[in-house]
Amino acid sequence: LPAGEPLLVAEGVTKKFGGLVANNNMSLTIKTGQITALIGPNGAGKSTLFNLLTGLLPLTSGKIEFRGQRIDGLSSRKIAALGVSRSFQHVRLIPTMSVLENVALGAHRRGLAGYIRSGLHLERAEEASILAEAARQIERVGLAKHMHDAAGSLALGQQRIVEIARALCADPYLLLLDEPAAGLRHLEKEALAELLMRLRAEGMAVLMVEHDMDFLMGLADYVVVMEFGQKLAEGLPEEIQENPKVLAAYLGG
Ligand code: ADP
Ligand code: MG
Repeated sequence: LPAGEPLLVAEGVTKKFGGLVANNNMSLTIKTGQITALIGPNGAGKSTLFNLLTGLLPLTSGKIEFRGQRIDGLSSRKIAALGVSRSFQHVRLIPTMSVLENVALGAHRRGLAGYIRSGLHLERAEEASILAEAARQIERVGLAKHMHDAAGSLALGQQRIVEIARALCADPYLLLLDEPAAGLRHLEKEALAELLMRLRAEGMAVLMVEHDMDFLMGLADYVVVMEFGQKLAEGLPEEIQENPKVLAAYLGG
């Protein structure tokens, strides 16, 4: 799909946890070659929406289309195989394992190349192909020199980038990042922003939950704001920054 075309379209997405409506009639369009930011106060329903988009949770109602195909109701594995990949809000690397092993593990868990049936036993050729793909993605994100270092020995910013390398192994069209800049130092944020801009230039679509407005302003093409499970506003970063409803939501007004 050419840049700017709708890649993922969610309509009327609702998720209830018992009596709690975590997503209420949410709609969202994510376009190719764009970075879309999803913002909103704590508890607004952002992580839940990620879980719905990636098939980790079933929808209560609504529909999600990805590349023209309905994906709501598909397993997370199927959705990943179609090209939706994610990182989690908290780093999930195994600190004592190498960067390469961590990325390969993630690639394997996602069922890289489909033919891998279980983690119990891998044919040598399969293992080699996974390691080669992992190494390729580690190079792509600029961490080749840390390939064999223990993941836990890297700075937090680098660990976040390892997580992105892991997500890239599935060769996604869409990358979902949950608070990628949280807790990072200024230079680490710059490195992360640079990587995301490079991926965007390659045609990748990114949806990220992020609170850091300074980080978002220079980076996001479009911003969607959630509050109480619903869409409060959407628009260009400059518009959102001045939107009175958004300001009120953040100031608790
Ligand atoms: P955000 O990521 O925007 O902070 P979440 O999507 O994590 O918000 O949460 C939205 C609401 O849904 C919160 O009230 C949260 O407590 C609730 N919630 C999230 N996941 C679950 C769950 N698995 N079971 C019950 N309630 C949940
Ligand atoms: Mg969250």
